[in-house]
Amino acid sequence: MTGTQLAHNITYWHVVEDAEERMLNKPFLSLVALLVVQSSTGFDETQSNNHVGESIEETGFYQSIRLTSEKPLFEKQSQYQKIEVHNSPHYGKILVLDGVLQLAERDADSYNEMMAHIPMFQHPDPKRVLVIGGGDGYVLSEVLKHESVERVDHVDLDSDVIDACKDHFSWGDAWQDPRVQLHLADGASFARNAEDGSYDVIIQDSSDPWTWDENGNEVELPSSVLYSDEHFSNIHRILKPDGILNIQAEMIQIPSDIEGIAGWRQNVLNKGFRSARYGSLYTSSYPTGQIGFLLCEKDPTKAAKYHSIEQLHTQMNEAGRATTYYHPRLQNSSFDLPLWAEKQIYGEDGYKGPCSPRCDIMSLA
Ligand code: SAM
Repeated sequence: MTGTQLAHNITYWHVVEDAEERMLNKPFLSLVALLVVQSSTGFDETQSNNHVGESIEETGFYQSIRLTSEKPLFEKQSQYQKIEVHNSPHYGKILVLDGVLQLAERDADSYNEMMAHIPMFQHPDPKRVLVIGGGDGYVLSEVLKHESVERVDHVDLDSDVIDACKDHFSWGDAWQDPRVQLHLADGASFARNAEDGSYDVIIQDSSDPWTWDENGNEVELPSSVLYSDEHFSNIHRILKPDGILNIQAEMIQIPSDIEGIAGWRQNVLNKGFRSARYGSLYTSSYPTGQIGFLLCEKDPTKAAKYHSIEQLHTQMNEAGRATTYYHPRLQNSSFDLPLWAEKQIYGEDGYKGPCSPRCDIMSLA
């Protein structure tokens, strides 16, 4: 164990207690961002089948996935959260944490490939990578497809999520790669104690930072520490001068989410990132069929050139490390949003930062 790792372990407990307290103080979670196995929701289709579904209280939107059986393939209450793995006829295996769907085998490629490959290809030479959250291991396995990677620090609170995913998902061998160092810790604490300029790319694959109680009040969840002012400052500090952060950034069609996106974007710009752009992706198993990420760059002028991204992606495919959702054109087009979304995220007059969403910070030359 190195001195730095020892320091992480010593300070970890304090913050984990914080996170733990938040997790224990979340009685409303199951009331609102509701994901339950149920046998009846009032319409015929669900009368005779078990479903896992999520209800968005503020929009009245409800969506569910049919399960193969009422009995989960795996179920455990960990120190931090209730972990379930279910089987479903159309979506394959499904990971559910505290009643909230995290991924479904059938379409998890979209979220996880975009979370990993957009920042990894945007950086000209990503060697040192930090993955925060992402206990399912899918983002980690995509990061490892990049030959430039020398070391990945993976930080997640919950070893039980990792163990469950090792057993149940095809990408579960990612942690065996010798380039991976696993840290069971709170991501905010880990970042607080990391040295300045340690990473080329940081990817934050967290669960939702908040939910709502039955009175419509916002309730913070354990990952809310990963969206705090202090944490964004630390992330900026521990990235190298050309470093890139990519964070899970929720859904544009939920009013409180898009407000949150605009706020996080402003926050990271205030911390010194010169560009922060929201990219969108399709995923039918998440409510509204869409989710996005916020790509935050310290120095967008250092971004990789488009033709080298194409070359690297071709090499990756030829070496048997193919992608199924990501392709290089998404490196630009995923940032094109509906006009109303662009106005809400970047302001009425559009984005006036050092680089507009469309100015193409990667040279197409
Ligand atoms: N892509 C998924 C989604 O948005 O639904 C998230 C996947 S991942 C399973 C979320 C992970 O974040 C979990 O493994 C959980 O243990 C981890 N997590 C939550 N709060 C954390 C924190 N403060 N520090 C580190 N990991 C955290």
